[in-house]
Amino acid sequence: MKSVELLKVAREHLENCYCPYSGVQVVAVLFGPKGPVVGVNVENASYGLTVCAERSAVFSAVSRGLRDFEGIFIYSPQVMPYPCGACRQVLSEFFPEDFQVVVTNGKEEEKFTLGELLPFNFKL
Ligand SMILES: [Zn+2]
Repeated sequence: MKSVELLKVAREHLENCYCPYSGVQVVAVLFGPKGPVVGVNVENASYGLTVCAERSAVFSAVSRGLRDFEGIFIYSPQVMPYPCGACRQVLSEFFPEDFQVVVTNGKEEEKFTLGELLPFNFKL
């Protein structure tokens, strides 16, 4: 899928974000042969229980038996939503170093590989 199509999918899910504490909406869209699979951020009053959009998308896909993706498109209209360390580690559990990570706020877009964002990832 092209970025313009991924942005459309992301914006269609923006209202599903649950972010009463930060006010920052984030939508992550896994794309590729089995996509799109969408996740949104889900915050919690006990902040540590919050789940980021990227992990929402990955856990949703894995729960459905889907793991064949080319990349993840991460959108927030409030910030440039670079994935946090926890999400980088979760992505590295299921996807290779050349997995694409696209970050956008709808105005500017940056592309990385997972290997660039998390070199020397933890693996057993
Ligand atoms: Zn995260």
